[in-house]
Amino acid sequence: MKFQYLGTGAAEGWPAVFCQCTYCKEAAAAGGKNIRTRSQAIVNRDLLIDLPPDTYLHKLQQGLDLSAVRYLLVTHCHMDHFFPQELSIRGSVFSPVMESPEMEIYCAAQTKELFERCVSGEINDQSRNALHWHILRAFDTVHAGPYTVTALPAHHMGPGDEPFVYHIVDETGVSVYYLHDSGWYAPEVWDYFSQQKPADLISLDTTNGERAGSHTEGHMGVPDVLEVADRLREIGLADDRTHLIMNHFSHNGHLLYEELEARARPHGLEVSYDGMTLELTSRK
Ligand SMILES: [Zn+2]
Ligand SMILES: [Zn+2]
Ligand SMILES: [Zn+2]
Repeated sequence: MKFQYLGTGAAEGWPAVFCQCTYCKEAAAAGGKNIRTRSQAIVNRDLLIDLPPDTYLHKLQQGLDLSAVRYLLVTHCHMDHFFPQELSIRGSVFSPVMESPEMEIYCAAQTKELFERCVSGEINDQSRNALHWHILRAFDTVHAGPYTVTALPAHHMGPGDEPFVYHIVDETGVSVYYLHDSGWYAPEVWDYFSQQKPADLISLDTTNGERAGSHTEGHMGVPDVLEVADRLREIGLADDRTHLIMNHFSHNGHLLYEELEARARPHGLEVSYDGMTLELTSRK
């Protein structure tokens, strides 16, 4: 499995769209791995995770063929993870030549509702009819082509909302956890983790940077992520082959790439950056 981070920033990006704080200025000056666009990842060529407003930028930056994307997983309906208007220019006259004209979308009912509210007056029938929606509930497992996908509940957003994080397994058994935006995991999610085989990649919500999320907030910081990593090793979801990766960063977390690396490396963790690519091979 090829797994690529396309965007690794929180909602406002880093440097943030409208901000001139110290950390935004430092990131802009340093450039490189400190420039973080809104969160998105791609598995091989055909499975996209989230659809942020920076999707088009990611296509340009990474030279992606997004016409080949057959499966779209949406974690939740915050704007940095789902910008539904983009789907109104998919298919029909807007992209007459596509490898995969049909798209299967997996998300919560709430996410589909946002699509209807934002796009219904704009999308034409041909584009709409090429989208096939699969509404998930927490702990549902579905088959998206060659991928087995389980939606796990996130501790993020408010009462009545349905944010998910995803466990994705390919045909060869390569196992990836994309855990944004998660907050601290519920006991049932820990139970799920403890029943699974060791993962190949676990991507962890590090939005708060140097500040802990106190197990109650909708995001985590480095102190929480280090605690999570220890516990994942204890229960066997992470072992010495697992890439444990800090991801989804904000200027409000203050830590630039090198500072994050200095905190992650001694604990055997890695730090994401836009464009970071991992080739994950089966343990079989
Ligand atoms: Zn986010
Ligand atoms: Zn800022
Ligand atoms: Zn969010």
